[in-house]
Amino acid sequence: MTGGLVPRVTLVGAGPGDPELLTIKAVRAIRSATVLLVDDLVGEAVLRYARRSTRIVHVGKRGGCTSTPQAFIEKLMAAEALKGERVVRLKGGDPFVFGRGGEEVEHLRALGIEVDVVNGITSGLAAVTSLGVPLTHRDHAHGVIFVTGHAKEKDSALDWPTLAAAAAQGLTLVIYMGVSQAGHLQEGLLQGLGRATPVAVVQHASLPQQRHAIGALGDLTALIAREGLGSPAIIVVGDVLKGLASVSLVSGTVQAA
Ligand code: SAH
Repeated sequence: MTGGLVPRVTLVGAGPGDPELLTIKAVRAIRSATVLLVDDLVGEAVLRYARRSTRIVHVGKRGGCTSTPQAFIEKLMAAEALKGERVVRLKGGDPFVFGRGGEEVEHLRALGIEVDVVNGITSGLAAVTSLGVPLTHRDHAHGVIFVTGHAKEKDSALDWPTLAAAAAQGLTLVIYMGVSQAGHLQEGLLQGLGRATPVAVVQHASLPQQRHAIGALGDLTALIAREGLGSPAIIVVGDVLKGLASVSLVSGTVQAA
């Protein structure tokens, strides 16, 4: 360890992809890193803020191996921090929204390593905003639920009919990692919401290759299949989408109805 510094790791939210959505704090942290551990969903454009001398380690699927095991990532972070490196862990969106940030913080703190966290714009927020609609509205949307469509274990999976009942009361549902489970979600949600409830699927939110489709809950899986939408995508359910015309597929920013 150099200079008796306390070992420290900074978890940084890289936002949904558009580098202009990085916070100033995130850019500063990326610049100050000597070791940068980068997740899959972090775009290359964000990495241009790193110094040339920074060691960049891709720990996601695109990094070479099929998927770096979480335990390995945690060990690597800790080892580099204990050597005195300025370690920045760069994660897509916000580090504390479905990003395993919580697990990483627990692991590092247990080893006596200090952890700072820099928020990022979560993809659910960026996805809804890219459609030009708000997450809440005083007339018909009184809150938001961020949920994952992909639980770690089967029995901790969410009860979709209950969530549908919440949405029916005027809550917007923002579903991460839901595309591969869309059939299951659709079936569960239809137990508490009408087939005509508006849904949107937004892939690659905030990036030039963004594509999205808007339709009705009763057609969710058909819409995804027809338009060939896939991960990473956010599914949005709720009346905030009502003003939007049902469009099949739009690339880039929202087109006028
Ligand atoms: N911490 C991240 C979420 C990580 S979980 C965040 O706050 O955004 C990974 C999931 O996030 C993906 O399966 C997808 O549902 C969503 N996601 C991440 N980036 C996305 C993007 N640019 N567009 C749409 N969905 C995205």
